[in-house]
Amino acid sequence: MERIYIGMGSNLADPAEQLRSAIESLAQLPHTELVAVSAFYQSDSLLPGQPRYTNAVAALDSSLAPLDLLDALQAIENAQGRERLERWGPRTLDLDIVLFGDRLIDEPRLKVPHYHLQERAFVLYPLAELAPADLRLADGRTLTDLLAACPFIGLERIPQTSR
Ligand code: ATP
Ligand code: MG
Ligand code: MG
Repeated sequence: MERIYIGMGSNLADPAEQLRSAIESLAQLPHTELVAVSAFYQSDSLLPGQPRYTNAVAALDSSLAPLDLLDALQAIENAQGRERLERWGPRTLDLDIVLFGDRLIDEPRLKVPHYHLQERAFVLYPLAELAPADLRLADGRTLTDLLAACPFIGLERIPQTSR
């Protein structure tokens, strides 16, 4: 089993409900245990003209191979009506593999750690609720280092149960 962190995001069709539904699906993945889920964080879209996003991070323990996990995550996205019309367009559900144990993965379909981790407060702060502060990336930086370089600006932390 390896510890895996999944970044979740939605800005369409009741985002908090989309995340709750995704969490239920993550809990049912084969060869996988759902360990913990962060609070939900709301923020304005990085691109103008899109609805606000709700984001969270889930921790899994899984023996799935990385590409099998990616397939499963994409199936959950599709089941929740994800349409890929434009890059970074509004979406009902995005599930990204942020970290997969201490693996470095560089395949056409899968790059891990997720390449935008360090500049995305809406991933780093929920991740910090679940992961140890001394968690270290391959380049030597700890989660604490990444948080220090990425201020908590424009994020609103909400309980999982509220809308
Ligand atoms: P971003 O990657 O900037 O968060 P996005 O999540 O909106 O953008 P998607 O449309 O969800 O992008 O995914 C595009 C492709 O990214 C997927 O088809 C997948 O193969 C690839 N991909 C590469 N690395 C990862 C990863 N760590 N987690 C999920 N998908 C990944
Ligand atoms: Mg994404
Ligand atoms: Mg994605």
